[in-house]
Amino acid sequence: MRRLIIAGNWKMHKTVQQAVDFTKELASLAAGAGVEIVLCPPFTALHGVAEAARGTNIALGAQDVYWEDEGAFTGEISAPMLKEVGCQYVIVGHSERRRYFGETDETVNKKVKAVFKHGMTPVVCVGETLPEREAGRTEQVVRAQTEAALKGLDAEKVAGLVIAYEPVWAIGTGKTASAEDAQQVIAYIRGVIRELAGDSADKVRIQYGGSVKPENAAGLMSQPDIDGALVGGASLKPDSFAGIIKESGKV
Ligand code: PEP
Repeated sequence: MRRLIIAGNWKMHKTVQQAVDFTKELASLAAGAGVEIVLCPPFTALHGVAEAARGTNIALGAQDVYWEDEGAFTGEISAPMLKEVGCQYVIVGHSERRRYFGETDETVNKKVKAVFKHGMTPVVCVGETLPEREAGRTEQVVRAQTEAALKGLDAEKVAGLVIAYEPVWAIGTGKTASAEDAQQVIAYIRGVIRELAGDSADKVRIQYGGSVKPENAAGLMSQPDIDGALVGGASLKPDSFAGIIKESGKV
């Protein structure tokens, strides 16, 4: 059985104080939830959220990482630094990183390996843009991104991955893929993983991301291949994020 994983990606939102207050509130709203919960604050708030989440059911994730352990890489943060602060998860290859910061399939693969090397779990984002979807290229795009991200990983590592299928046109737009469309693409991604790593495909958790909210969470989570959600906008308010957690826990 794959356990549902609901992760909040705060992007460039929240000061340390706001992040700590949110974490304390969520901890009481989501106590005893039947799903795994992850918060991914900005780097500056990781330590504060780690402290506030201590002893709760909330795990910590980062939004990005650099693949070298240390060195002259101004502005970057390494996997050992994230591990030390308490991260268990690291988002890699978010479409905003790909679009605005030059992330490529090759750098995604390097980052995935760095995250595993330091005992954390990568949350690898894949997904097509609107023109790609309209051109009928969704499967081709998610296959290429998935194959590149997993390059050089053994089957055991693949089994431990989290993948987030995030159609770019659904991120922050209020447009959600229908549960059936999301299921179809996610099942396709699982099939690609089966080709690459055999039965590990049954263990890898694949989230959906793109305008998930309390109202559509249960429908998405009840699909057989959807194992959780990566949530942007609706993870910024404790009530709405807790609502998604609660709805998902009913499935
Ligand atoms: C995201 O950025 O990963 C995301 C899914 O955002 P939103 O929920 O706001 O669409």
